[in-house]
Amino acid sequence: MSEKDTAKVYTTDDAGIPVPSDEHSLTVGPDGPILLNDAYLIEKMAAFNRERVPERQPHAKGGGAFGVFEVTEDVSAYTCADVFQPGRRTEMLARFSTVAGERGSPDTWRDPRGFALKFYTRHGNFDLVGNNTPIFFVRDPMKFQDFIRSQKRRADNNLRDHDMQWDFWTLSPESAHQVTWLMGDRGIPRSWRHMNGYSSHTYLWVNADGAKFWVKYHFKTDQGIEFFTQDEGDQMASMDTDYHTRDLWEHIDAGEFPSWTLSMQIMPFEEAKTYRFNPFDLTKVWPHGDYPLHPVGRMTLNRNPADYHTEIEQAAFEPSNAVPGTGPSPDKMLLGRWFSYPDAHRYRIGANYKELPVNAPRSPRHSYTKDGHMRYHNAGDPVYVPNSKGGPHADPALAGPQAVWHTDGEMVRQAYTRRRDDDDWGQAGTMVREVLDDAARDRLVNNIVGHLLNGVTEPVLVRAFDYWRNVDKDLGDRVESGVRAKQGEKDPKAEQQANPARSSAQRKA
Ligand code: NDP
Repeated sequence: MSEKDTAKVYTTDDAGIPVPSDEHSLTVGPDGPILLNDAYLIEKMAAFNRERVPERQPHAKGGGAFGVFEVTEDVSAYTCADVFQPGRRTEMLARFSTVAGERGSPDTWRDPRGFALKFYTRHGNFDLVGNNTPIFFVRDPMKFQDFIRSQKRRADNNLRDHDMQWDFWTLSPESAHQVTWLMGDRGIPRSWRHMNGYSSHTYLWVNADGAKFWVKYHFKTDQGIEFFTQDEGDQMASMDTDYHTRDLWEHIDAGEFPSWTLSMQIMPFEEAKTYRFNPFDLTKVWPHGDYPLHPVGRMTLNRNPADYHTEIEQAAFEPSNAVPGTGPSPDKMLLGRWFSYPDAHRYRIGANYKELPVNAPRSPRHSYTKDGHMRYHNAGDPVYVPNSKGGPHADPALAGPQAVWHTDGEMVRQAYTRRRDDDDWGQAGTMVREVLDDAARDRLVNNIVGHLLNGVTEPVLVRAFDYWRNVDKDLGDRVESGVRAKQGEKDPKAEQQANPARSSAQRKA
């Protein structure tokens, strides 16, 4: 091939061989059969059949962007993590998502939002895989799979089903705090730019002297909290399925970079033992009155991905990417995720998912893993450790003081040991009574009533009324009368047929 030919861009197959046609397959005469030796056609068809990796289960629908995290304060008294040292700037990636919807589902359905972050630090990748809520529906990973299935689709008709959602929730009172959140204004963020992100879990920090602290991360939006009402969210879901994805992309593309301020709640290590409720219970927040926010720095998203599949769909976030100075806590959900996220990536993307540029550290990597599908670089000899051949050896000094805690006891299958203020309804009730104003409470009632009227049947419905009365008596009463009034409008006989005993008692009253 002449130099003149190579100067212009021409189509090749995946081996770089110039292809004879972009449009015509190889046939015996123009009307004859297609030949199996049209390797280029076969490569195109085969690659197309393999384009999709399994979608995430859950958090399938999402988008993201790259940015930078800048430390503006000094929290070195609490952690020696390089990423949190004064003045440090660290490149990072964020991915936002819904939880229950599939990859093509609307961005504006009522759902918690994933808030996953990857920081490319000087000591390896640090991931925080949080949500836009500081809490979660369950506190033991044994219930997670069942919870997600109850939010997804039935086995028989493949439809989502509010009846099974409320069946699970009302049989799992620990869900009350998160369901209150979900049904409130923040259950449909106006955009990803207008929501906070929380680690939700409690983590461990350790400083250079080895002192340990329990911490929670709060990324507060600098754009301000904004939300869609149910009607606005429904309308947007039919007008623009990808509204949140588009909003983030267009703002970054226009140079309007969204930012979030990171603050921490910090609990001295020993206080966890005697705190009035279990500080590792994922269904609870730490009240700000007890543990105020300490500002740390700002994250700014300033670069859109160039290739959605390789940079966002194949981005792999995992809580177990914990750099020196950080570590896990006895939160059972967190410990479940410590295993489950890397396992999901190995299944979805392949054993060597950390070889992909978006998942690879920007700091030196000297690991002894080798080979496997799609491996394109091995460290070379020696392939084992310990060795006397000049291979890398662990350096405990570089790993820093260990963010681990001491524990012992019998092996048991039990709930957390109950403390004085451990209960499932209290913090949800506080939110309803003390955080929401009258208008927000009215919208909460309407959202719950609307959700319940969408296919929830007896006896789940009656359990749902009691569930809300446990959160707040007045709220529960308003939910019941709202549902019964609407049922009456639809079909005056419906209530009697659904629950004759209760209806006749109400008529007598
Ligand atoms: P505070 O008054 O100190 O904090 C209340 C928090 O509620 C603020 O962080 C505020 O976030 C947030 N909030 C306001 N409106 C809503 C809403 N519609 N939905 C969800 N959150 C909202 O009180 P406490 O720390 O004592 O907590 C009281 C209750 O507030 C808790 O039981 C919990 O339900 C809720 N909450 C607490 C958080 C915590 O980490 N302590 C975090 C978020 C909620 P913002 O400042 O961004 O408006």
